[in-house]
Amino acid sequence: MIPPIANRFVAGETPAEALDHVRQLNDRNLKAIVNLLGEHYNDRDPVDADAATYRSLAADIASSGLDACISVKPSQLGLDLGEDVFREEVTAIVDSAVEEDVFVWIDMEDHTTTDATLDAFEALARKHGGGERSGGTRSTSDGGSGAGVGVCVQANLKRTRDDVERLADVPGKVRFVKGAYDEPAEIAYKDKAAVDREYEALLEYAFEHFDGGIAVGSHDPAMIDRAIELHQKYGTPFEVQMLMGVREDAQEELADEYEVWQYVPYGGRWKSYFYRRVMERKENLWFAVRAVVGR
Ligand code: FAD
Repeated sequence: MIPPIANRFVAGETPAEALDHVRQLNDRNLKAIVNLLGEHYNDRDPVDADAATYRSLAADIASSGLDACISVKPSQLGLDLGEDVFREEVTAIVDSAVEEDVFVWIDMEDHTTTDATLDAFEALARKHGGGERSGGTRSTSDGGSGAGVGVCVQANLKRTRDDVERLADVPGKVRFVKGAYDEPAEIAYKDKAAVDREYEALLEYAFEHFDGGIAVGSHDPAMIDRAIELHQKYGTPFEVQMLMGVREDAQEELADEYEVWQYVPYGGRWKSYFYRRVMERKENLWFAVRAVVGR
């Protein structure tokens, strides 16, 4: 069983625990993006197992009527074994989720995976469309995401501006993040201020050229404020996405006015994810220490 201190960032080990958390989120006016933790598999068995879990998760989300979608990682679906394996697995998941009317996000991993991830996304988005391209203020959204597919792009990669221009003509949603991977300086902005500037520039491009489907995947109040300004300037709908356990008060506050999705990781492979969350911020480390010493 998952220890109580990990429960802040990880919803549990089983799909039932994850869906319980989703139910509580929905009661708080928040929607959920459910992710089964797992990455970089070197043989087919865990790939097939996680893919099967995602398919049944999508069916469970549909039958329970919860406001939730799923998010998958390319290397969890076999990208390290070959692009053909990843394409086969992600296509089967999206095809079956579309049948269930459940939206699928594709997370973005390090720069060696960007082309394969965008190519798979584009093929699936052109096949299935992009959901409602909703995301937005409460007044313009009917609540559900609808079936479809979305992909994540990273502001720290210098190539992303070109990628986003390419995605402007593709149906589907795009999640904008700063980027979680330590990339080489030749291809990436390394300075935090440069990444922030690029993030804002990408948002400006998207709000001006997309007709919706913009997801602001950031906890940064400055980026969220900028997105709100751009929404007011261009009228383009958007949604905010944040991680479970991070700025939860802000998530609820924003949800009064905007569509807010919480990324909800779960599964038996929770330890390294929990460790990353704790180490990225000293307040989190302090919280973990206090939980362990019981104060
Ligand atoms: P940062 O630049 O880390 O921080 C800026 C400010 O935000 C801080 O000064 C503080 O005010 C606030 N803040 C940030 N973190 C916290 C915190 N823990 N507690 C309180 N305040 C905080 N990356 C990928 O590479 N690929 C993905 O597919 C991907 N998917 C993601 C999905 C979601 C929903 C989210 C939220 C992030 C995802 N990321 C992904 C991670 C992302 O790339 C960043 O590494 C991560 O979000 C940190 O950047 P930030 O914009 O949140 O803020």
